[in-house]
Amino acid sequence: MITTGPAILPIARQGEAILARRAAPVPAADFNTPALLNLIESMRLTLLEANGVGIAAPQVFVPLRIIIVASRPNPRYPDAPLMAPVVMLNPEIRWRSETCENGEEGCLSVPGQRGMVRRASHLQVWYQDQGGTAHEAGYSGFAARIIQHEHDHLEGILFVARLQ
Ligand code: ZN
Repeated sequence: MITTGPAILPIARQGEAILARRAAPVPAADFNTPALLNLIESMRLTLLEANGVGIAAPQVFVPLRIIIVASRPNPRYPDAPLMAPVVMLNPEIRWRSETCENGEEGCLSVPGQRGMVRRASHLQVWYQDQGGTAHEAGYSGFAARIIQHEHDHLEGILFVARLQ
């Protein structure tokens, strides 16, 4: 884990072994530690700089179950809805709707490629915040798509494996 201050981190590209591995849970001993908060802030900076709408820790070479979901209109996704960024530790998708929809996805780890991916339209996700407090929330549409895409990263799956 990073021990210096928050910084923009290098992004793992398709082909890097870490993107194909299952990430480990964030242990309770890590909650609210300076190292964890520093990693989360570094992921946020990296996401902002890359004009992404979501990021998972394995994408910055950290094999832990941490994602940030941060839909907002930007040059890569001009039509993305604006939402307050949510940091999810140890997220578990507890329910997915049978209703699915196709939508275009890209990935910071797969530069230059976009494709149509079928995802559940609605889901319910359980997660812990940086202090370890549990939350459960429902998401739909583009935000639900981001959560499914980022959760896939924690399982070692890239969106290119799900192209229609
Ligand atoms: Zn991705």
